[in-house]
Amino acid sequence: MLWLIESAQRILGMRGRDMPDREARWDRDGAAHGKFYRDYLPDQNKRYSCVHCQAHLAFHDDIISKSFHGSQGRAYLFNEVVNVRTGPAEERILLTGRHSVADIFCASCKTTLGWKYEYAFERSQKYKEGKFIIETIHMVKDNGWDLMAQ
Ligand SMILES: [Zn+2]
Repeated sequence: MLWLIESAQRILGMRGRDMPDREARWDRDGAAHGKFYRDYLPDQNKRYSCVHCQAHLAFHDDIISKSFHGSQGRAYLFNEVVNVRTGPAEERILLTGRHSVADIFCASCKTTLGWKYEYAFERSQKYKEGKFIIETIHMVKDNGWDLMAQ
C-alpha cells in the first residue's frame, strides 16, 4: 500500500514537472507559427498579395520569369515568396522535362497557389530549383505600383 502511494506520488510529481515544459514548448511553436503565418513585406516595394486573403506573397523584384503557365492560366516564377506552405514533393513530367515539384498553398487561407520546383532532372532546367510558381489568378498587385506603367 505504501509502495502504491509512493508510485502515485512519483507519477504525479513527474507529471507536475512535465507540464510547464510542455506548455513552454507549445508557446515557442505557437510563436514561430505565428511569425511564419503572416510575414509583411515593406510598404515601399511593389508586391503581390493573395487575392483571397490579402496576405503578402512576393516582391515584384523577385520575379525571374513571367512566361509560365499553370492549370489556370499565366503564372510567374519567383525567386522567393512569403506566407506560403509547401506540400509533399512528387515527380511530374512537364513540357520541359522531368521535375520533382511540390504544390504550394497560402499559409493564411490555404488556397493552392502554384508549385515549387524541388529538383530538375534536365540540366537546362536547373535554374528553377528551389523557386516558386504562383498563378496570376491568385495574386493581386499591392502597393508601390506606378499606375502609368501598368
Ligand atoms: Zn491567401
